[in-house]
Amino acid sequence: MLRSTLLWASTNPFLAQRLPRYGFVRRAVRRFMPGESADDALQEARRLKGEGVPTLITCLGENVSTEGEARAVVDDYRRLAEAIREADLDMELSVKLTHLGLDQGVGLAARHLQELAAEAPGVIWVDMESSDYVDRTLDAWREARAMHDNVGICLQAYLHRTERDFEELLDDTPHVRLVKGAYQEPPTVAMAKKSEVDEAYRRLAVRMIRERHAGRMGRPAVATHDRRLVGEAQRAAFELGLPADRWEVEMLYGIGVAEQGRLVRAGTPLRVLISYGSHWFPWYMRRLAERPANVGFVLKQMVSR
Ligand SMILES: Cc1cc2nc3c(=O)[nH]c(=O)nc-3n(C[C@H](O)[C@H](O)[C@H](O)COP(=O)(O)OP(=O)(O)OC[C@H]3O[C@@H](n4cnc5c(N)ncnc54)[C@H](O)[C@@H]3O)c2cc1C
Repeated sequence: MLRSTLLWASTNPFLAQRLPRYGFVRRAVRRFMPGESADDALQEARRLKGEGVPTLITCLGENVSTEGEARAVVDDYRRLAEAIREADLDMELSVKLTHLGLDQGVGLAARHLQELAAEAPGVIWVDMESSDYVDRTLDAWREARAMHDNVGICLQAYLHRTERDFEELLDDTPHVRLVKGAYQEPPTVAMAKKSEVDEAYRRLAVRMIRERHAGRMGRPAVATHDRRLVGEAQRAAFELGLPADRWEVEMLYGIGVAEQGRLVRAGTPLRVLISYGSHWFPWYMRRLAERPANVGFVLKQMVSR
């Protein structure tokens, strides 16, 4: 119930305007992002580099309204790519296609993605948004992937269609990031039970490791904070003798920090996604929905001053 309410809130424009004005909400969000500026994120990436942890970076934002806004986002990412190179960081870009103009056209988003792929350090990862966007996201990804090897795609284990999508993607030797899925979806589209989602995730994560070992895919990224599922991927990689530079676990900044430390000490390849930007409201509501107990932390911030 609380999860559905938070996911509903994530799409509500009135709340998106109002809530970020409150100091306690702004303080609470800092748990999941080092700050609103790109420099805040780059500084944190430098610290993580010192601990042997490579990173991903995303500028928060989605569903721009005009081509001009999408253009500005692309220009920001180009400057960011330059800054990453100058800082000599092992940091890759992660982008949402509705931030790059997907609502204004698949062709526009694909062109923007291609432009960024030409300048991106390493792989540029395409996030997967709500189910209405999956076909268009895959179409734009395919267009960009036909021109550039370094374009990865996110798949959501909770969607009924995902195993079929994965099979089809294999024709393109894809880099795939697997997540459980963070949006409010009807049961006709996505699995409703957590146990079903977890089992679908396990099957696909192990399959990705095997396909990587067989040379049928690019980089598999097992993006979850679920220790059991990370363990399943580690076991599959170990049994096949898949070296640590051929796959990775990805986690979000500020989530499962103790687990992140354990993975690094165990020599498991880990990459941490750092977010920045001022349009953090929908993204933050999805983080709260993943663990409704996080709402308690927000309330604590409210009474702590
Ligand atoms: C690198 C990365 C990229 C992502 N990209 C996308 C994307 O493009 N599209 C998309 O739909 N989703 C994306 N997600 C989000 C994903 O779909 C899940 O919603 C999110 O990862 C939580 O699920 P989980 O796999 O960690 O498993 P869960 O079963 O939700 O969580 C496992 C454990 O992790 C901890 N945990 C998980 N979430 C939180 C939290 N918010 N706060 C505190 N503790 C938490 C808890 O201890 C929990 O028990 C991404 C996630 C990662 C790590």
